[in-house]
Amino acid sequence: MAPPERVLIAGAGPVGLVAAANLVRNGIPVTVIEAGPDLSDESRASTFHPPTLDMLDDLGIAQSLIAQGLVAPKFQYRSKQHGLIAQFDFTGIADVTRHPFRLQCEQSKLTRILLKSLAENPDFEILFSSPVRRVDQDGSHVTVTIDREGHTDTQTGRWLIGADGARSDVRRSLAIEFDGFTWPERFLVVSTPFNFHSVVPDLVSVNYVADPGRWHFLLEIPELWRIMFPVSAGESDELALSPGFAQSLMANLVSGISHYEIAHTTLYRVHQRVAKTFRAPRVFLVGDAAHINNPLGGMGMNGGIHDAVNLTGRMIDVWRKTKPDTEFDRYDSQRRLVTKEHVEKQSIQNKKDLETAGPDFRKRLIQIAADPNRTREYLLSVSMITSLKRAEELG
Ligand SMILES: Cc1cc2nc3c(=O)[nH]c(=O)nc-3n(C[C@H](O)[C@H](O)[C@H](O)COP(=O)(O)OP(=O)(O)OC[C@H]3O[C@@H](n4cnc5c(N)ncnc54)[C@H](O)[C@@H]3O)c2cc1C
Repeated sequence: MAPPERVLIAGAGPVGLVAAANLVRNGIPVTVIEAGPDLSDESRASTFHPPTLDMLDDLGIAQSLIAQGLVAPKFQYRSKQHGLIAQFDFTGIADVTRHPFRLQCEQSKLTRILLKSLAENPDFEILFSSPVRRVDQDGSHVTVTIDREGHTDTQTGRWLIGADGARSDVRRSLAIEFDGFTWPERFLVVSTPFNFHSVVPDLVSVNYVADPGRWHFLLEIPELWRIMFPVSAGESDELALSPGFAQSLMANLVSGISHYEIAHTTLYRVHQRVAKTFRAPRVFLVGDAAHINNPLGGMGMNGGIHDAVNLTGRMIDVWRKTKPDTEFDRYDSQRRLVTKEHVEKQSIQNKKDLETAGPDFRKRLIQIAADPNRTREYLLSVSMITSLKRAEELG
């Protein structure tokens, strides 16, 4: 019997499910294979950039996501010492995006909206509690070996998309190197229902606060604020997760407020890594399986969604035989290059800016904010429109 003609996707995170949605709406059958018993509800990404919202709109789900999130047209850079340095407004690029704002919304809301939109489609199938353990391929198909309820099973398809996150078993099974490094410090995310607008009147929903001692970002999502601080190598995980530690960091945010209601604290190890290749040859890496970076600038999930849309657009053409198989080489060259040139560079620069908080950083931001041309260029870059344009130019 001929193997089934479908696409396998390992991982039901935001990137795997966006890939599934684009394929299924174009009539391509998909089987998503997810290790967990359900969709993850971990609190990680909470910022969607304008072009990502345009892509989700093309998939018919942006309105549901916007209804569950918070529209943030402005963001600010502050320093602990000098207060507000500069404010930027995405309405300045409303001519190039249908969504001139950041959407503040947890990634777990996106995955639930996507799954609901796919669930009834006969071209969509999802297997939970089914970790992929091994990948084999020949000239026409890929077979994955999965664990299922204590026994081993296999699934076969025409291509496999590895969207199984930073520790990707797909990537490991193919022995693809994941070059880069791990930062010595970790990041602590503290969430609180405290309303910072009530004590800092000109605050917006997205604020980066530079400080050589302890920088932080202050992001509003529906019903909560998330504050992220670095935790130095000398501070143990145990100390960082003790309730007194989070309170002591929070006590430095607003003078006169020394105690906050804390909803969650989560400690993250932070890496900068990019896979040696995103294609091998019937298997494709996307999202965190292909690249990970520090979360400053909110580019990990957004970049992963851009990978998924780029790759699945090519799959649709090759499936319909309107383009040859060599199309896939361009997925690798375009997305790997922009990840290195833009996402990696920018996220490292963002971290450096916040932790040095020096006069050069302040001067640069003030000059950008004062010059309409530079402001526009800056907004196009931080919203990731520049990286998408660069990928297109690579042909
Ligand atoms: C504190 C923090 C804040 C962040 N903020 C932002 C932000 O604002 N904006 C942004 O763009 N990014 C942000 N990120 C990064 C973002 O969370 C990730 O880039 C994003 O989750 C990547 O999505 P993914 O679908 O590639 O992988 P994941 O979300 O990790 O999903 C992978 C899925 O694969 C499954 N899986 C794992 N192994 C297997 C296996 N062997 N077989 C089958 N399934 C498997 C997992 O269970 C999971 O469901 C942040 C990250 C952190 C830590």
